[in-house]
Amino acid sequence: MGRGLCCLMVLLCCRDAGAWGRRAHEDVNRLTVEHLSPAAAAVFGPLKDALVAQAMEPDDRVRLNRAERHRHFLDLEALGLPPPDVTKPAPRPETATAVLQALAARSLDATVQRDVVSTGSLIGAVDETFHALVAALRARHTPDITRFAVDLLHYVADAHQPLHATLHYDGLFPAQNGVHRAFEEDLINRCPDSHPRMPTKRATALELPILAAAALLESHALASTVLAVDLGCPGVCRKVPAQRASGGTMACGSLQQLARTRLELAAARAVFLLERAVRQAAPP
Ligand SMILES: [Zn+2]
Repeated sequence: MGRGLCCLMVLLCCRDAGAWGRRAHEDVNRLTVEHLSPAAAAVFGPLKDALVAQAMEPDDRVRLNRAERHRHFLDLEALGLPPPDVTKPAPRPETATAVLQALAARSLDATVQRDVVSTGSLIGAVDETFHALVAALRARHTPDITRFAVDLLHYVADAHQPLHATLHYDGLFPAQNGVHRAFEEDLINRCPDSHPRMPTKRATALELPILAAAALLESHALASTVLAVDLGCPGVCRKVPAQRASGGTMACGSLQQLARTRLELAAARAVFLLERAVRQAAPP
């Protein structure tokens, strides 16, 4: 088997849904509900315990429904971005509205040639779930409000995980496999400074679907930092090491701050979306 085919199979075979671990998702959901405006808090406040307890349900559902799996990530390489390059400083993510709109439109365009199952549909998942939540709020159907709010917060948090935005979600080469779980779960469980404290203040309010596109573009730019630090490089590798550093256990170091920043931004955007959903569902 040629090396290219072998590596492709390693990358495409057996991708699990992945997500921040339970701790991170629960933190995002709790912080989100605790920082809502009064109108949104009146709706979601009473559901807080359920929203926290069910934070991992979208991942649990993957075991029963394979079609759920690709809703948790989006490989931006499939939409034209270059793969992460650990030999260069992390690129500045594009923030221009026109760029975000074009990326979102491309990800939602069924005529664009790409395999959604293997390259992901996270922007579409966030967008659809938001509209389902608005419909549930209009119908005042509490089980659906809970379910779609859980899903929305989960997908928004996933869009802020750097490794959910790249084809190289579990390393640049097979010897780096394991980096995904090491970052999103093990690091968060071990490193207290990775825990979000409050939603980012003054996060730019963006509408869907460009909010999800912005989160994923930022994530994609940060993926090279996560992959480089895992290889023992201080952000940029002069030469790419053949093995992961520290036997595969990430040092808390700078990645704690990176994880916390992403989770706090996810919570800020989740606050915005829940408040927006309540406003949109209100009678004119
Ligand atoms: Zn997930």
